Amino acid sequence: MSAYLLPDGHVQIAFSGGRTSGFMLHQLLEANGDLPDRCEVTFQNTGREMPQTLDFVTEVGRRWGVEITWLEYRSEKPFFEIVGRQGASINGEPFEALIERRKFLPNQQTRFCSMELKVRTAKRFLRSIGWDHWTNCVGIRADEPHRLNKPKPKDRWTVWTPLADAMISRHDVAAFWYRQPFDLELPNVRGNCWLGNCDGCFLKSEASIAAFTREYPERAAWWERMEARLQGKTKSFATAQFSKRYSRAEMREFMERQGDWTLSTEGALCQANHGECVA
Ligand code: SF4
Repeated sequence: MSAYLLPDGHVQIAFSGGRTSGFMLHQLLEANGDLPDRCEVTFQNTGREMPQTLDFVTEVGRRWGVEITWLEYRSEKPFFEIVGRQGASINGEPFEALIERRKFLPNQQTRFCSMELKVRTAKRFLRSIGWDHWTNCVGIRADEPHRLNKPKPKDRWTVWTPLADAMISRHDVAAFWYRQPFDLELPNVRGNCWLGNCDGCFLKSEASIAAFTREYPERAAWWERMEARLQGKTKSFATAQFSKRYSRAEMREFMERQGDWTLSTEGALCQANHGECVA
């Protein structure tokens, strides 16, 4: 039996705007035909997604004839809004509103951004359409055991990972997109899309943040501005920076001082990835 056959009841299909969850959506459509009304495909936009990601989400919906509900966090009740490509935030507005409300910054230890901007935003939407309990279909592959083995959430949903059940690896996902007439127009480096999710996400490696700072200075400025806004205004220094090791201003200054050697010199910026966002 196909690993992609929908379970009974309400099913939320979490589409992050990346290649893996896009592939999962394709397999679900192929196995089930048109998705029944008891399914919702959601994309939670933080406002810090690259425009290529937003275009990819639009293209997936259009080409595969699937309705994708675009959601964004809001700081006032009901704490979410349904938007679309045209109305989607592109300057980090939902993320900034959340920081403004919390008065401190998320970091590797306290990832409240993914919880609020993605998990709770989707939950609030699904509750608003009358769902009590549901299955949350997430694009986690078989080669991501660190994500698969996380404790199950004690909430209104149970997690379903059909890609892992089908033993899908990053190679299968890459091979799939290689055959498609369209793709996410962001680079894939050894199966890692370093510009996926929020552009300057603190979970990305220092080398990725350095490359981002050098190649997209105007986008990196948003992260620096968030830190500058909270400097001296939080209970501890650590909660006014996205990383314990460096501020985004320091990273920018470092990249301005160094030449290109930094990114090609092994060990110059060797900090590994610190995990992945939830969706
Ligand atoms: S991608 Fe990173 S910065 Fe964005 S919501 Fe997820 S954890 Fe937070």
